[in-house]
Formats: sequence, structure tokens, C-alpha cells
Amino acid sequence: MRIDVISCVPALLESPFNHSILKRSQQKGIVEIVVHDLRDYSINKQRQVDDYAFGGGAGMVLRIEPIVQCIRKLQSERNYDEIIYTSPDGKTLDQSEANRLSLLGNLIILCGHYKGIDERVREHLITKEISIGDYVLSGGELAAAVLVDAVVRLIPQVLSDESSALTDSFQDGLLAPPVYTRPADFEGWQVPEILLSGHQAKIEEWQLQQAISRTQTRRPDMWEKLKH
Ligand code: SAH
Repeated sequence: MRIDVISCVPALLESPFNHSILKRSQQKGIVEIVVHDLRDYSINKQRQVDDYAFGGGAGMVLRIEPIVQCIRKLQSERNYDEIIYTSPDGKTLDQSEANRLSLLGNLIILCGHYKGIDERVREHLITKEISIGDYVLSGGELAAAVLVDAVVRLIPQVLSDESSALTDSFQDGLLAPPVYTRPADFEGWQVPEILLSGHQAKIEEWQLQQAISRTQTRRPDMWEKLKH
């Protein structure tokens, strides 16, 4: 998979893409993540990419030309399955959308900033608009980092078997059961005995029960959906 992220503040993406699982997946050659500085496509020597909003009002808007130039250049190099814009009014990201995107080949993610991007880019170029939740961020970079992380960890071979994404929350419509590690007794705080029993079938049954009761109490909406 190849993911091209377009941003006017690319430094915001350096750390998330260069550590842990995202770093390893790139080193293994499973995914290629390329960040593009929108200012490299700016309209003048001042590296300007934004302008005042027509109609007035506070806040700058990202102009069309740098965005179009960058996207067209990428499109001349390969075909893209989705051109995503991170936006608070997009569809809220969930695990099933992350699953769907993880099966695709090439993605562009465009990060907005300031007041957003000229609407005409959304009308003519964007194929998918994704929000990471009902709150407003200063820019799309953190949303892009969340999206890339959620998608890439689902690509086969990115996670080792021991940390398989299949046992995570949401993957089977249930929240994940609690997990414990050593020591089994910390100042009297005990790990549930069943986990130390070595009885794999019973452990799995306990984990499923825990997952069910967690989902029932913490996310009754998910439990309702699962019953139907
Ligand atoms: N004026 C816009 C918000 C702009 S915030 C509005 O009220 O809808 C600046 C940029 O941050 C947006 O262009 C978008 O790319 C990004 N952003 C902000 N909140 C986001 C969210 N919840 N999910 C995804 N991207 C978000």
C-alpha cells in the first residue's frame, strides 16, 4: 500500500510516521508513506498556500491551485483508490471503514488547516471525507495520523501474530477483554486466577464473557447491534 499525505505543516506528521508500528511497516516494505509539503506547490515565492475567505469572516482558507497541482502530479504517477479529505463534517471513522481502506492500494490524504480548504476541491477532487470525531482540530494532520495508524495496523503482516488486530476492540463487534501481565500479585492486587490456570479453553471462555459484559455495560449501542 502507498499513502501520500498532503499537508501545509508536514513537521506535525514526522513523529507519528517514524516510530513504532508505522515505522516498522515501512521498514518491512509493506507500506510506503510519503508526506508532501503543500508549500512546495505554493502560488508565489513567499510560499503562500492560503488566502482570505470570500464573503469575509475570520480565518484563512487553503487555496485551490497548490492542492490541485500536488494531487495532479501524484495522479500522473499512479492511480489512486481514494482521495481523502480529513474534515469534521465527514463520515466519522470507525473500524469497518479502517478495514475497508486497509484493503486498498493507493491513497491520498489531504489535510486541511485554518478555516479549511476551498470547497471546490471537495466538489471536484475529493472522493471521501473522514472525520475522527465530533470536535474541531487546528489541522488535519493529527486526524491523518490517526487514520493512517488505524488503517496500516490492519494490513496483513504489519502486526505480529501475538498482537493480532483480530483480537482488538470493535473487530468482532465487541470491546476487548481486560489484559494483565506480571507480576501476578502486586501488593495484593491479584490477576484473575483463571488466567494463570493454563486451561486455554476456559481462559478463552472467560475472555469472551468479559468482552460481552464490557460491551453490554460500556457500549450498549454496540451490544444492541450485535444482537440483530
Ligand atoms: N471550519 C471548519 C474546521 C476547520 S479546522 C469547520 O468548522 O468545519 C481545520 C482543519 O482541521 C480542517 O480543514 C480539517 O482538515 C481538520 N480537522 C479539524 N477537525 C477535524 C476532525 N474532527 N476530523 C478530521 N479532520 C479535522
